[in-house]
Amino acid sequence: MKKTNALYEGKAKILWETDEPGRMVQEFKDDATAFNGVKHEVISGKGVLNNQISSHFFALLEEAGVRTHFVEKISDSEMVVERLSMLALEVVVRNIAAGSLVKRLGVEQGTTFDPPIVEFYLKDDDLNDPILSEEHVRALGLATDEQVAYLKQAALTVNRVLTEFLSERNTRLVDFKLEFGTTADGEMVLGDEISPDTCRFHDAASGKIMDKDRFRQDLGGFIDAYKEVLERVSS
Ligand code: ADP
Ligand code: UDP
Repeated sequence: MKKTNALYEGKAKILWETDEPGRMVQEFKDDATAFNGVKHEVISGKGVLNNQISSHFFALLEEAGVRTHFVEKISDSEMVVERLSMLALEVVVRNIAAGSLVKRLGVEQGTTFDPPIVEFYLKDDDLNDPILSEEHVRALGLATDEQVAYLKQAALTVNRVLTEFLSERNTRLVDFKLEFGTTADGEMVLGDEISPDTCRFHDAASGKIMDKDRFRQDLGGFIDAYKEVLERVSS
């Protein structure tokens, strides 16, 4: 397989077209951004770690019967994926209160949600990715009712599989964001990445933060935390 042209370069990844129909190369970059791109740094080694961590999670989910775009990891920083037509939606699952939810609703940080909360956000940087109700999703034509039902069920399955896997590795899955898209024949598939950039991971015993919050909050030890996640995920 040969990469042809870069179809899209985002904040964290480059999507390359290839000479194989329906296949793309997803390359993970070292750029770290937060607060909708306001904070930006290049952190050497981040792309390689996120590619490895994401590859592990996608393989795990495929084994558990979740349909994902992951085909194979082809280099330190690249994976082959199925080309999807992405929904303009982010699906967030929350097990424990953190981040925007704490700020928006005043819920105490660390509050456990059982059952977990599933939220939808509009993927639109100009609008700062606003939260959406299911009615908004339907009214804006972002997904059909049938697709919304699938997204919620798939997001909760991903949560169950990852929570169980991580808890066996002394890691708490606080919350995470997923993106989905459709194949040419309309099948809904999990795309994008699953990494410490898009999930919150805390050490189960100490509560130590092992994700992008280290960058957002200037806590230091960013790459070491990502390395630790990879070690746990590969063990
Ligand atoms: P952003 O667009 O937020 O800056 P990234 O740098 O992560 O984010 O860019 C990756 C882009 O590729 C995202 O817009 C994502 O929706 C899109 N994408 C992820 N997986 C696929 C796929 N399988 N097919 C097509 N596009 C994808
Ligand atoms: N998230 C993400 N991309 C986004 C927004 C959120 O990957 O554009 C992830 C984030 O890393 C966290 C979860 O989704 O694991 C919930 O994020 P939250 O809404 O709390 O937003 P934040 O305050 O982290 O921006």
